[in-house]
Amino acid sequence: MPFHEPVDAALVPRFAGHSTFMRLPALSDPSGLDVAILGIPWDGGTTNRPGARHGPREVRNQSSLMRRVHHVTGIAPYERLRVADLGDLAVQPIDLMAALAQIESGIAAICAAGARPLSVGGDHLTTLPVLRAIHKAGRGPLGLVQFDAHSDTNDSYFGGNRYTHGTPFRRAIEEGILDPRRMVQIGIRGSIYAADEHQWAQDQGIRIIYIEEFARRGADQISAEIRMLMGDAPCYVTFDIDSIDPAMAPGTGTPEIGGLTTREAQALVRGLSGLNIAGADVVEVSPPFDIGGITALTGATMLFELLCVLAETR
Ligand code: MN
Ligand code: MN
Repeated sequence: MPFHEPVDAALVPRFAGHSTFMRLPALSDPSGLDVAILGIPWDGGTTNRPGARHGPREVRNQSSLMRRVHHVTGIAPYERLRVADLGDLAVQPIDLMAALAQIESGIAAICAAGARPLSVGGDHLTTLPVLRAIHKAGRGPLGLVQFDAHSDTNDSYFGGNRYTHGTPFRRAIEEGILDPRRMVQIGIRGSIYAADEHQWAQDQGIRIIYIEEFARRGADQISAEIRMLMGDAPCYVTFDIDSIDPAMAPGTGTPEIGGLTTREAQALVRGLSGLNIAGADVVEVSPPFDIGGITALTGATMLFELLCVLAETR
């Protein structure tokens, strides 16, 4: 199978042509791909401001600004990986449990073809069925590198609802998909429901790096710690756009001030170089709350950063 290259912006302007992730070919069959980029336009797990269902379309649009080569590492991902835009999973928006099953089966098809998923949400609950599919494909238990303002390890919301975008990683631990001792959460901040809200997560062994600790220690030290925690075993990288400060990424459902800068987030993702990454995602981009596409552009750029570290995974 050939390597796919983005449409050459010297021949076709970035604002012209069909909108696909990174201006890659749109394929419906993942066979032969190393990485399948896809959208999961579903936000049925959202507890507050909705709109992440519109994320994939706008991230596709803004991703037309991505070029071919990483300016720091020199990585040209399309020369190392066969990558294409697999389109969106057509997830119905009404029945939550049915939606989770649809997402899982969509990702299972990608795993069965031997490709790794790089998805764009959607709210953070979309990551749970993605993890289920990767785990069932025999790549687990997984470590997790989670960029987020929130731990997303609460037990339930609104009287016993156990599936929301505030609960996916608790469910994934309970289901034996994630190894909590190989989980790290970076950028955690904001007011919490109770003083002991993060206790369950910490009791499981999750390493929570609050934004204050990150500010003290910096990206190099934190990245070294993450690499040590993950080791050589498979891990998944999930990037909640609300890890970034809402001054730079306002288009999201649950903003928290005092977050990572875009530059810090880029440095942290680059710091994942060499890890055994089984898949990755960018979630919680909500275009209705965005301004001038800045959040979708940030999402698209983090998607490119993730693709470049996927290209370094052996
Ligand atoms: Mn989250
Ligand atoms: Mn969050």
